Amino acid sequence: MGINNNGPESYGTIWVCRCCMLTHANGECCADSEHGGDGCEPLSSIEPPYTVAMGMAYEEHAEDCLFHTMGSDAPGDYECDCETNTFSTSQCEGCGSCLHGERHAMTLFKN
Ligand SMILES: [Zn+2]
Ligand SMILES: [Zn+2]
Ligand SMILES: [Zn+2]
Repeated sequence: MGINNNGPESYGTIWVCRCCMLTHANGECCADSEHGGDGCEPLSSIEPPYTVAMGMAYEEHAEDCLFHTMGSDAPGDYECDCETNTFSTSQCEGCGSCLHGERHAMTLFKN
């Protein structure tokens, strides 16, 4: 906090659809170009100089989550569900898709 390390600057958490998450993780998602129905190109809303990384910052986790309280000292096998919303009706922040469904947390950075 308050330290400028000249690295990418975090712009906080965004919530993206399954296609955006899979595209970021694997470079591909669906076999067809419809992406669940509306044909939004995954991660098309993320343009340079912005980049995304999987997951959310420790301080963004729920207050009772060990990642929030312990950060990188949380046990290696600890899992939480802060980074997944199993059903959301809000627009995907990665591609603009309005399809309802799973949303996954990512952190937006500006390089
Ligand atoms: Zn897809
Ligand atoms: Zn958590
Ligand atoms: Zn998306």
